[in-house]
Amino acid sequence: MTGWTILIHGGAKTIAPEEESDNREGLDEAVRAGADVLAAGGSAVAAVEAAIRVMEDHPVFNAGTGAVPNRAGGIEMCAGMMDGASLAVGAVAALPLVRHPVSVAREVLREREILLAGNGALAFARERGAELKDDEQRQPVRAVVSADAACDTVGAVALDSNGDFAAGTSTGGLEGTRVGRVGDSPMPGCGFYADNTLGAVALSGDGEEIARTVLASRIIDKLGRMDVMPAIQCSLARLARLGAEGGAVALDRKGQPGFGHNSSHFAVALMRAGDEDPSIWLSRDEEEGP
Ligand code: ASP
Repeated sequence: MTGWTILIHGGAKTIAPEEESDNREGLDEAVRAGADVLAAGGSAVAAVEAAIRVMEDHPVFNAGTGAVPNRAGGIEMCAGMMDGASLAVGAVAALPLVRHPVSVAREVLREREILLAGNGALAFARERGAELKDDEQRQPVRAVVSADAACDTVGAVALDSNGDFAAGTSTGGLEGTRVGRVGDSPMPGCGFYADNTLGAVALSGDGEEIARTVLASRIIDKLGRMDVMPAIQCSLARLARLGAEGGAVALDRKGQPGFGHNSSHFAVALMRAGDEDPSIWLSRDEEEGP
């Protein structure tokens, strides 16, 4: 048995002062939900799902209820999960109507397929009894205040007391993109990755550039060779060279947590075995890091 850790994020973005308390409150509730699962001996996969479900229900985050609209005013969501013990991946892309895309991704995790999209993903969600959004939740609930503010995918990484890692993401994508556009968030090696021999990582940011730089893969490879903070920093430098913004949370194989970003804010929360309260960071000013 080892100690458990969960590290979550609510997006690499700009957080307006009036949105700070909602971000803090959403992170606090979400990280505690994941921590409760781990403290009860639950798996890293279950903890990541539990934390992300809370953020999918919180309108301050661009996932589930808070998902931003595409160019046609519709909502298409993406989510991904990875189990570091088995390297199983489950993801959904361009999925409409579902309240908790991450839970559909977890269902895919149990299957041979790794990624289901669009109508196929919705049919699978219905087949597995996924809860649909009620009528009100199907309309976009939040206005994006700036282009930067749109990068607020949610994500989580966890290490359970069995020594297993997991990573997950959930997003409404980027506001105003083409119908059917899919970013990094449901793609393993781009928006997320977990491998018990290396650790786990989850990202937020400009999805096309994160995919072009296979950023999760870059970070996870470095976790095998260097400490978690430099592994994140030098990978984000690659993203910055493309003029893009992002943020990453990661755990190395010993469970050491780290995060980094080149966006103005990155909403992050951490809990470890024995913690009564989470540590929460929203901006650079607050960052001494874990
Ligand atoms: N990475 C997400 C995407 O491009 C956006 C975000 O992080 O908010 O779909």
